[in-house]
Amino acid sequence: MTDASPTNEQLAALLAYCREMNLTEFFRSDDVPLQPVEAETAAHASAAHTERPMAAATPLAAPQISMPPNADHLASLNRAAPTDPPLPPAERAAALEAIRQEIGDCTRCPLAFEGRNHIVFGNGDPNAELLFVGEGPGADEDQQGEPFVGRAGQLLNNMIAAMGLAREQVYVANIVKCRPPKNRVPEPVEALTCSPFLFRQIGVVRPKLIVALGATAATYMLGTRSALSLLRGKMHECLGAQLIVTYHPAYLLRDPRQKAETWKDLQLAMRYLNLTPPKRPGA
Ligand code: SF4
Repeated sequence: MTDASPTNEQLAALLAYCREMNLTEFFRSDDVPLQPVEAETAAHASAAHTERPMAAATPLAAPQISMPPNADHLASLNRAAPTDPPLPPAERAAALEAIRQEIGDCTRCPLAFEGRNHIVFGNGDPNAELLFVGEGPGADEDQQGEPFVGRAGQLLNNMIAAMGLAREQVYVANIVKCRPPKNRVPEPVEALTCSPFLFRQIGVVRPKLIVALGATAATYMLGTRSALSLLRGKMHECLGAQLIVTYHPAYLLRDPRQKAETWKDLQLAMRYLNLTPPKRPGA
């Protein structure tokens, strides 16, 4: 039987990586605090075992980190307006594809080893004025490789239609491109590693307005851990675009009472984009 425990070499690499990301406190998933582990200790152990061959296919164990992003984590992402001129519209699809190629079969963060089936890059109009950002792929998205295709995706489609747009007219992506197991919230190391790709996608699309769906998207897009209620109902700036915050469609499936509040947020977006809702038959 194969021992699935991470090797010392893997632990050393993981700890060094987490330290680079300024993640220094580690907890088990059952919330039992561990003593902070010194990467040097693991590195030393690693040096003592260099003769042991490392199985290439052995997955790196995901860190069981349970902590919200701190201010330093959030400040490490550059949300400034792009300084380079927008690409000509005809070149944007190819530019997005180039980012996708660069991501490749990504193993840059622990979510690569958590059983993902597909990297969910994002899709939609490369010249969209409106761009939605969610948290991460769910089971359906992971299976199909496309964002927002499950029940929450159907609700998002309905929200977009209520704004007078088709799904194909907007761009949709997530903070992380691989499914967090059991749909847990992405860990800071995962979100901070993956979201720069999203930011580059946004730099290509150059939307006028970004809608952050839910608290995780709002946190990483705006760099602040405020309550959703404090962030909703106003315009923010992010990556040279305006940004509004509303509820995630998956949350609305659990608590449909918030649909009316969400509609208020979408109306704010519509006013900014000069959109009018489609007329109902007979209206
Ligand atoms: S979540 Fe993003 S950074 Fe992490 S493995 Fe997937 S594509 Fe790479």
